[in-house]
Amino acid sequence: MKISELINRGGVTVSCELFPPKYGKGLAGAKEIVKETAALRPSFISITYGAGGGTSKHTVSLADEAQNVHGVTALAHLTCVSSGRETIRGILAELASRNIKNILALRGDLPENETPVASQYRHAFELMEEIRGFGDFCVGGACYPEGHPEAETLQKDIESLKIKVESGCEFLTTQLFFDNNILYNFLFRLLRSGVDVPVIAGIMPVTDGRLIARICKLSGTSLPPRFKAIVDKFSDRPAAMKQAGVAYATEQIIDLIANGVKNIHIYTMNKPDIAGKIMDNLSEIFK
Ligand code: FAD
Repeated sequence: MKISELINRGGVTVSCELFPPKYGKGLAGAKEIVKETAALRPSFISITYGAGGGTSKHTVSLADEAQNVHGVTALAHLTCVSSGRETIRGILAELASRNIKNILALRGDLPENETPVASQYRHAFELMEEIRGFGDFCVGGACYPEGHPEAETLQKDIESLKIKVESGCEFLTTQLFFDNNILYNFLFRLLRSGVDVPVIAGIMPVTDGRLIARICKLSGTSLPPRFKAIVDKFSDRPAAMKQAGVAYATEQIIDLIANGVKNIHIYTMNKPDIAGKIMDNLSEIFK
């Protein structure tokens, strides 16, 4: 099913995100993770894509596994920063042949120290145009409640989201955020700027306090004092940090749903047990 149709049904949607193993690693472990995640019956499962292109086949295989083996709608991520048109069209043909209808179209970032290759795409909207011209896909894109790290201002970043929507983007998934007020402010700005596609709120349960600084640096996300205190207190006690991270994400989601946000994406980071705990905590709320 297309994600636009899932969202238009009007209820709450809850999705999970997985990433494929690095190039050269087998798929058996990843397929097990897909199976365990699919058993939680999320609305859809998204599979990330390595911007360097090396794991592209894995993204297609795991999306295929989620949808065609386990019966959960798949969203395949696709980046264009290091791919030519022929490569992109080849992947689109593979996705179409497996009836995978949903693509999160991204620019991607080149891995550190990697020499830029000739790409025909500068921005995600150009990839979106390509996909829409290629076939019958539902196309989504990324958005950044605190602004993309390269954007001069949040307003300029929002102007580029308008171009994405004009290029066929039917929904936006947010970068992770730890302060819901930042999302509410962003949603208000989007509406005021005429960006009216559904926004899926991306929540990351942080269960390893040692990773938090790197996560915030890479994503440009700020750490509110309330969460910083939790990390300071529990990061050297892994079991306690895990419990606190699940509780924080659970509370964030309850507040979002209470305030009318209907579409939640959990950055599950290949940890079905964490996703399962959150889903359990919210089983009545997600009904
Ligand atoms: P773009 O939309 O091209 O935006 C990049 C920058 O260019 C922004 O500053 C924007 O304001 C600016 N810009 C955009 N359009 C224009 C325009 N028309 N004119 C001028 N400026 C413009 N990375 C991966 O490698 N693999 C993944 O699977 C992956 N999944 C992600 C999922 C989500 C939900 C998110 C939020 C991010 C994901 N990323 C992934 C990271 C993403 O690739 C990076 O954040 C990347 O830096 C930007 O990608 P984008 O699609 O937002 O790019």
